[in-house]
Amino acid sequence: MDLFDDNSSERANLPRNMIENSMFEEEPDVVDLAKDSTTFPTFSPLDPDEVAYEPRSSRLLVRGLGENDLDDEEEDCESSARLLGMSFMNRSSAQRSSSSPYARQSPPSSCFRPSARTMVVCLLVLVIVVSMTMVLCFLPGCTFTKAGCPKPTQGDDDKDVFPWTQFRLPHSIHPLSYELTLTPDLDNMTFAGRTAISMTVLHNTKRIVLHAANLNISKATFKLGDGPARDVTVLEHKTRQQIAVKFEEELKTNQRCVLTLDYSANLSNTYDGFYNSSYTDKDGKKRVLAATQFEPLSARKAFPCFDEPNFKSTFLIKINRKPDYMSLSNMPKAKTTNLSKGLVQDEFEKTDVNMTTYLVAFIVADFTSISKNLSGINVSVYSVPEKKEYTEYALETASKLLDFYNNFFEIKYPLKKLDLVAIPDFLAGAMENWGLITFRETTLLVGKESSPLDKQIVASVIAHELAHQWFGNLVTMSWWNDLWLNEGFATYMQYMSLETVLPDLDIGNLFLDMRFRAMDKDALNSSHAVSTEVNTPEQVEEMFDSVSYEKGASILLMLNAFLPGDQQFRKGIINYLTLYRESNTETVNLWNSLTQFTTQPQNISKMMSSWTSQKGFPLVTVSRKGDQVTLSQEPFLLTSDNTAHSSSLWNIPVTYVSDSCSLTLECRQVFTLESKTGTLNVSESVKWLKFNYRSTGFYIVDYGEKGWEALIGALSSNVSVLTPEDRASLIHDIFALSRLGRVSFHQVINLLQYMSSETEASPVTEALLQLNNIYRLLDKRQEFNLVARMTAYIKRNFGSLMKSQTWEEKQSVSEQKMRSALLLTACNLKEDNCTQQAKATFRQYVDSNGTFRIPGDLQTVVFTVAAQSDEDWSTLFGLYTNAIYDAEKRKMLQGLASTRDAHHVAWILKESLKGKLIQTQEFPLIIRTVCQNFAGYLFAWDFIQVNWDRLIEKFPLGSYAIQSIIKSATSQFSTQAHLDQVQTFFSSLKERGSQMRSVQEALETIRLNQRWMDENLPTLKQWL
Ligand SMILES: [Zn+2]
Repeated sequence: MDLFDDNSSERANLPRNMIENSMFEEEPDVVDLAKDSTTFPTFSPLDPDEVAYEPRSSRLLVRGLGENDLDDEEEDCESSARLLGMSFMNRSSAQRSSSSPYARQSPPSSCFRPSARTMVVCLLVLVIVVSMTMVLCFLPGCTFTKAGCPKPTQGDDDKDVFPWTQFRLPHSIHPLSYELTLTPDLDNMTFAGRTAISMTVLHNTKRIVLHAANLNISKATFKLGDGPARDVTVLEHKTRQQIAVKFEEELKTNQRCVLTLDYSANLSNTYDGFYNSSYTDKDGKKRVLAATQFEPLSARKAFPCFDEPNFKSTFLIKINRKPDYMSLSNMPKAKTTNLSKGLVQDEFEKTDVNMTTYLVAFIVADFTSISKNLSGINVSVYSVPEKKEYTEYALETASKLLDFYNNFFEIKYPLKKLDLVAIPDFLAGAMENWGLITFRETTLLVGKESSPLDKQIVASVIAHELAHQWFGNLVTMSWWNDLWLNEGFATYMQYMSLETVLPDLDIGNLFLDMRFRAMDKDALNSSHAVSTEVNTPEQVEEMFDSVSYEKGASILLMLNAFLPGDQQFRKGIINYLTLYRESNTETVNLWNSLTQFTTQPQNISKMMSSWTSQKGFPLVTVSRKGDQVTLSQEPFLLTSDNTAHSSSLWNIPVTYVSDSCSLTLECRQVFTLESKTGTLNVSESVKWLKFNYRSTGFYIVDYGEKGWEALIGALSSNVSVLTPEDRASLIHDIFALSRLGRVSFHQVINLLQYMSSETEASPVTEALLQLNNIYRLLDKRQEFNLVARMTAYIKRNFGSLMKSQTWEEKQSVSEQKMRSALLLTACNLKEDNCTQQAKATFRQYVDSNGTFRIPGDLQTVVFTVAAQSDEDWSTLFGLYTNAIYDAEKRKMLQGLASTRDAHHVAWILKESLKGKLIQTQEFPLIIRTVCQNFAGYLFAWDFIQVNWDRLIEKFPLGSYAIQSIIKSATSQFSTQAHLDQVQTFFSSLKERGSQMRSVQEALETIRLNQRWMDENLPTLKQWL
């Protein structure tokens, strides 16, 4: 999927494609409870909320019983109760109905989330029952049977005990095909379903274990081979979201069987599973729809299934709906028939490919579409009716890209249709469901008149999702530890395809910026290897991060740039896709496929493993004596306690150019640095060397004092001696080295002296981003004197560039990028020309009543300036409420959130979490924007702490949304007091988030800020 984070110059500028789907309601789980009882207690049956509110003493009491025993006991107690009198499913339906405060509509009779008092009473009863049971069991001659005694006598087969104890499903049964029938009720926000799963037995077994979450199963039948269908009992493990059927007789290898389950559930009120969404149409009427978001672990919320990526099978889907809606699914519609009670049934063709559960999708809505036939494939773009005029660009772009990929991969897109659908309420950027890609409205809809920057976002996300139709859909990673095989590849392909298909979009700069941000994150000790172990739902969510996406893409670029010509890489991946078509792979399969097609003496597999199996990346230090250049490598780790990783070695394809030839690919020399140090020879007449040509390698270079001086000297006499990418990478690297303590900030300032003659976007935006980061740190520390000096410094060095910007429409993406970064900084520093021009532009926009358009790249700066006055803030909010075009609407929201007014800050945070006036999907953006100002950042941090439970109800623990919220709220702290506060808060969360990697990252970042301040504050004055 596409993680959406299009925040422009401030931070990672990524059209990141990932799924930030909604949330889990379960506490984290483990692969093997027996093996890893330290990470997560094996005590599992409590609902996470119960854990949160339950008095400490009672929990200790329960835990005191002994963990492993308790697991079984609890299972028994639960199942036994369920079996009393009624079918387990009926009761469980009552149990499940959620009464969360966020429910868009809560159904009646819910005891799934009882009140705190009820829970305490329940727990006490539970403890008493368990204790009594144990006592009775140990009494000699216990005569209790199954209902009362879990393991009473030998020979009883414990038929109520859940037969599986692991996070991953057993592999004795494999699904072959699913037949799903779903009847969503959009009036009551519920749905009914029937799922029939045909399976084959791979190994003799007495159980079938699969996933289901929050489904109220009312009937279950089982049919073995040609035998009769019979009713079976379904057991459930709620925490692990698993269900199971046990059999007296073993199912034998190669037998076929069918399990059919009838169930009902509520449409989810978060952003995952089968969820309800709504929007207000142009007549002010509320319209509802239902859509799905299953990646990574939410298909189980819509239908019982083997919800792991390597259980591929086929799907036949039927949707029962009211005639005034339409429905969509992965495949084309086969037929529509009339049912009773005024419903009709859409039956979709059976998938002609084996696919994994997270790619299944269906939508019931009243959308309209435009279509195009592209050599037998029907491509359509769907939207709500009033936004149809914004769909054309997406249709054109998708058609071009589909054509490109069909040729590039030499494997034709395998389905007959491809739908791209804009969903009004959607958290991720987009999701690559096979044949039915879903998008946020901002990532799919764009007007013909819109700015090229808006089009760049849309084209990037489409390119990413289309690449997934091969990488991810056709060939899928075996498990989430190798998510990068999906996401790194789709991210790399999105840039590569757009460079060819839409060169005007200047996608190369976006990719460059993305690589810098990926390194910034990977330089932390809390980072992880590209391919890393994943054992809990939370860890699955956390894989959707910049390492899987951006570092994954960066190392693919590095490899492709290293291989000679442009065909070896391509032939290698065609080989990989062909070999593993419709099946699953691991990282090693990719490297082996590529190795077969390369002429390099290096073993590609060995080389690339050094980049995927260890975290971080290398710092290459250059020292030169006459004609001899010595290169040495070490991990670039910002945190000083790097002893554990100092042995890391990478196989680095080092590239370099020199003053004799520096601009074209022909100038580039390659040297493979495999060991700690290496030596190369250059002519004594060479004045300077620039390593990492065009920054295609994932490493940072330190040139030593003399090396830096030579480069700085060369740039100040002629900017064009290096490519813009090389200039930007010098800026990125020198700031990183200064953060590491390798070069002084004075040296940074020396390099930046050439900036007034800079003409290209990427060096300017990189320098501004780095300086703004420091500016904000100083501002948050209320170092007013230094803030004033920093302001003066930026104005002095970038003043002429700022002044040369015009406010009219511009066509070049790179000019727009540079202009928007410069003017945002200028207006933020209250540069008079800028703020006056922005105010006048806003006035003109308001007065024109919709006839005057603010150029797309200037909207954020204009709305941000306007939002600083009370009156215009209200005007802007009015405009926001009535705006239809989402890209513009989002920039208005950024403006509103940039307010320095405490009341407005409080209001906007509250409203965006509430989700009525401002969609909750925008909450991470609001937090990020609010935190940029002094007025907002402390308030936002408090808000997050107070509302944590509500937040993780909306966004799953570990998800990209949560990662982004934590980072925004904490990354500007630089004092011990704040460090303590952040540490105390997160450790108090326990299973509600204390284990997240983003927490480690936050703490590490604060410590680094603290260190940087301690080292640089005293001398910063003299440097500025
Ligand atoms: Zn993706």
